Amino acid sequence: MKRRIVLLGPPASGKGSQAQMVSQKYQIPAVSTGHLLRDEALANSELGKQAASYTSKGQLAPDQLVMAVLKKWLGSGRNSYIFDGFPRTLAQALQLKPLLDSAQIPLDIVLFLECDFATIESRVLGRVSCFDCKKVFRVGLHVESAESPCPECGGRLIRRADDQPAVLQHRMVQYFDKTAPLVDYYRAEGILNVIDGSQALDNVFVQIEEALRR
Ligand code: AMP
Repeated sequence: MKRRIVLLGPPASGKGSQAQMVSQKYQIPAVSTGHLLRDEALANSELGKQAASYTSKGQLAPDQLVMAVLKKWLGSGRNSYIFDGFPRTLAQALQLKPLLDSAQIPLDIVLFLECDFATIESRVLGRVSCFDCKKVFRVGLHVESAESPCPECGGRLIRRADDQPAVLQHRMVQYFDKTAPLVDYYRAEGILNVIDGSQALDNVFVQIEEALRR
């Protein structure tokens, strides 16, 4: 069973949902650099303020900021992990490799969740998350409207600042420019698995489980 995992894919390809599902079922700690950066921004830390000046416009945060929050999370003594939305640039991937190799916890697999733009757009525009428990929901599927209470904890639902049509365009451009080249990088490393991320969550999960067991 592969337990050192990267989830790669465009915005709203399902990385966060699948990371949560794999993490819960197989007890593998998951981390989203997007979450870490949003938490820093909510805490109003210097790093968070810097990151928000990029993320709010749909630009990628600078590599050194992202590497700093990731290294803090990785700490020492981890032997399994799911990286959700990290690495997102070739520079991050190249810095990550020696870090993991020296800790003797190299990557086992990269799951690339492919997704078409129509699906991405409808998911992004319908996405809300709970301010308190951080769980993510879809309007029309899990909740009636963005004003509904959180179905898990009754907390307040919020929309991400970067989940708007204009910002999504920028995020897509950044994805194609900076992140998509990682598909070829990890294919050449021999650890890339392509999965159709536009399917229903449960179907995607079944394919991920197969890939992790292979
Ligand atoms: P996400 O929650 O994964 O969609 O990330 C939200 C935003 O945080 C992205 O649009 C980027 O601006 C920023 N971000 C998250 N992860 C990274 C990363 N690995 N490298 C650069 N920026 C990132």
